[in-house]
Amino acid sequence: MGLKEKCTICNEKVKQRYNPMDEWGIEGIMCGKCYSKKVHEHYPGDHIRVNKDLD
Ligand SMILES: [Zn+2]
Repeated sequence: MGLKEKCTICNEKVKQRYNPMDEWGIEGIMCGKCYSKKVHEHYPGDHIRVNKDLD
């Protein structure tokens, strides 16, 4: 299968894709790690559930 999706932040292959929020100004898809990093950067107090069993 030709599905080679890479995280737009760290360039790792993405098993489970996360779409960045519009207000982040990021194009492409993100891996779970970068996604949760961004979530913490942008919404330090908020709890947004992220699937953690990725590794
Ligand atoms: Zn990443």
